Amino acid sequence: MGVCITSVPKSYTIERVYDARMILERLSDKFSIEPPRLKWSHGRRRGIYLNHDDCILLGPRAWSGPTDTLLHCFAHAVTHKHQVEDSYHGLKFLDTLWHVVSTHYDGMPERYSWYSDHNAVFEYGRNKLRSLRWD
Ligand SMILES: [Zn+2]
Repeated sequence: MGVCITSVPKSYTIERVYDARMILERLSDKFSIEPPRLKWSHGRRRGIYLNHDDCILLGPRAWSGPTDTLLHCFAHAVTHKHQVEDSYHGLKFLDTLWHVVSTHYDGMPERYSWYSDHNAVFEYGRNKLRSLRWD
């Protein structure tokens, strides 16, 4: 069965750096961390969290779209700051990402583009969504 891709309402998506900052502040509050800094760029495939700077590099052309790339990077910031990261895309990161995504999309993690993320993330999201469907 293919993943059903529905359009995501605009209230969840980033079009401007302002939206990204709003999302970061709201999520940081919920995950009890200081908001990471944000550097906005129009360069290609931006989307990385820099541990040493506590900074997310993001832009409109980020690898998974600005919104979902921001959520992914934010999950790295949370695991880094709570010092629970076992490996780069390990299980603790994946559980954190799932929690971040569910929070941002108000309990609808299927709205996240799992299919355009790294392999480990895609596999995790697919299995998790399947298990929800079959509960
Ligand atoms: Zn990552």
